[in-house]
Amino acid sequence: MNKKLLYLLVIVLASCGKGKNSSSNVYFTGEIVNPTASHVVLYKGDNIIDSAQLDEHNRFIFRFDSITDGLYHFNHAPELQYVYLKKGDSLAVRLNTVAFDESLVFSGDGEEINNFLLELFLANEEERSGINSTFKLQPEEFIKNLDSLANQKLEILNTLTEEGNFSDREVKIAKASIKYGYDSYKEKYPFVHRKYTSDKKIQKVPENFYDYRKNIDFNDSDLTYLRPYYNFMNNHFGNVTYMNCKTDCELQQNLVRNRMHFNSHKLYLIDSIVIDKELKDNLLRKVAFDYLLKSHDSEKNNETFIEKFHTLSKNSRHHKEVDELYEGIKNIQPTKSIPEVYVYNGEGVKMSLLDISKNRKTLFYFWSGEDKRHLKEVNKRVKWLEKRKPDYQLVGINVKTEESNWKGIVQTSNLKPEMQYRSDNFEELTKALIIFPINKCIITENGKIINAFSNIFSNTIEQQMSGYTQLAKN
Ligand SMILES: [Zn+2]
Repeated sequence: MNKKLLYLLVIVLASCGKGKNSSSNVYFTGEIVNPTASHVVLYKGDNIIDSAQLDEHNRFIFRFDSITDGLYHFNHAPELQYVYLKKGDSLAVRLNTVAFDESLVFSGDGEEINNFLLELFLANEEERSGINSTFKLQPEEFIKNLDSLANQKLEILNTLTEEGNFSDREVKIAKASIKYGYDSYKEKYPFVHRKYTSDKKIQKVPENFYDYRKNIDFNDSDLTYLRPYYNFMNNHFGNVTYMNCKTDCELQQNLVRNRMHFNSHKLYLIDSIVIDKELKDNLLRKVAFDYLLKSHDSEKNNETFIEKFHTLSKNSRHHKEVDELYEGIKNIQPTKSIPEVYVYNGEGVKMSLLDISKNRKTLFYFWSGEDKRHLKEVNKRVKWLEKRKPDYQLVGINVKTEESNWKGIVQTSNLKPEMQYRSDNFEELTKALIIFPINKCIITENGKIINAFSNIFSNTIEQQMSGYTQLAKN
């Protein structure tokens, strides 16, 4: 049993029976220890509701005459977290950015649901690796474990509900957070099980394995931005598309390798099943991003796919994002010049990527200061490649680390300082170079792209660095 959840139960029960505010005014205030930005932004879904400046005591305040009850999220860059707000609430949050989620505490009216959702979130993080290790089990045992974890939380929720702490909408959201969270693992089971057991075929699951699917709600706008619900939807459509393709679609060779067919099929399934418009558009956008970023398909296929996406998605901002992504991908095809993006060296001198890479063979790799383990692995790999490929310069581009912090890391982590750069415009950088995943690297010769979608940990990285030289000369 999760200790924090139990503890929460005790606190909430002890604090019952407070008088309720009858005004519809909403106050959401907070204090941020070790702030990483000057303000806090409040969102409802994709829309910014308001933004508040931190004062000299690192406090902020949002005040609304009225607000739609429901789930919001607040962002103190780069972190974000949910907050449930309802009319009459006067809610306060305190957090320390050194351990953002773990340090968060809500107090005041509305604290019960907010602390409950937060504890669920933390419990899920804590349980993840344990659950991942059960994917190799047989389906019956796999579900038994998940259901027992879910039931523990549902029992606590029941007790809190009986005590009258939650409104109906709050109960619905809390319950969805629990159920969709655990059911999401079931949607992934056949595929991860196959991987972990090196079975060739997808394991058959008992008839009742997917019983919960009878109760999936594809039309509840209260849940659209609830993370466990949204993640569930992604996994669910991945699973159902695969199974449908396998039985219904006539495809030569291995159907899942046909990314164009698989992803188009997924678009149509989402379109025909999901009712809530915003959820539908968000899911369609995710499929389009996945396809474009992971498939590296032919230009013809890409264009056919994007046309399909345009006819199904009703969100013009998503259209623009997908088009821009595709433009970005087209701009970094082999033989094109590396995009005119500017970065800074340790002395603060501004240089373009072309300046850095002309007359040289260059491999650009990427790292972020937040992920220390990743940086260590990358650094090791870079040192190894530098020995194997002395004709190359290996250039590190930092993403998202604040300048003084970046300089500190460069000094202490044994990176070659003269090969390190950072951008002060992460959005421009990532749009132009399509930095996904973070392990990607870009191989260039004399400023011309040889391969902009390579991976620094690829087994064939050395061949890639010697094999394509001819290409750059054309
Ligand atoms: Zn299909």
